[in-house]
Amino acid sequence: MKITTFGDNLIQLTRFPVLFPVNCYLVREDDGFTLIDTALPGSAPAILAAAQAHGGPIRRIVLTHAHMDHVASLDALHAALPDAEVLISARDARFLRGERSLDDSEMQGKLRGSYQTCATRPTRELAPGDRIASLEVIAAPGHTPGHIAFFDTRDHALIAGDAFQTRGGVAVSGTLRPLFPFVAIATWHAPTALASARALRALEPSCLAIGHGVVLTAPLPAIDLAIADAARHLNEDPAHAA
Ligand SMILES: [Zn+2]
Repeated sequence: MKITTFGDNLIQLTRFPVLFPVNCYLVREDDGFTLIDTALPGSAPAILAAAQAHGGPIRRIVLTHAHMDHVASLDALHAALPDAEVLISARDARFLRGERSLDDSEMQGKLRGSYQTCATRPTRELAPGDRIASLEVIAAPGHTPGHIAFFDTRDHALIAGDAFQTRGGVAVSGTLRPLFPFVAIATWHAPTALASARALRALEPSCLAIGHGVVLTAPLPAIDLAIADAARHLNEDPAHAA
């Protein structure tokens, strides 16, 4: 597991950094760490060791969405940390329980990517605007119907899951990057992802930390290019795509 520290509060943990990078994050809080996502199967020992090496227990496990490469070590971590809170959006909690349906009110995109059922039940289901210590929950649907991002109110770091990717080129979820196509291939509804990307951009994040690829600091120019590119791919009216 590759470990990279950004500022005082954010630690990126990367499985398979060369071939198929999958990130999760430790966010430092006064009482220990909030873990964002749990990476691939078998990641729990390395995540626990990284938290210990950086001086804190994991108090909370929060999930951006219910795809396998973000939730696969949840059950093992919950077994090791039975007192840690487990948090995911109410919408993607349904996927975590094994549901695979869309509501009539939702965009009827195809559910793509490998949703994984977990035995662990959330201790709390999240809604946009909720707070998890220093993090604010931000709605970021599109990659999955209930995808959420986390905005650190201290330093304005944005941990955005698969709402964006930076591996293979910075992109909004749903815009294919041939060198790393997996985020786009697993995206439920690209126009919704683009709307979310604009909402996340409006937060003016100081850094962008995502599920696949390096963390970007001062990310706004790259985000703007990615949003323009996504709008072009979706054939948006240019007047609308500013
Ligand atoms: Zn995903």
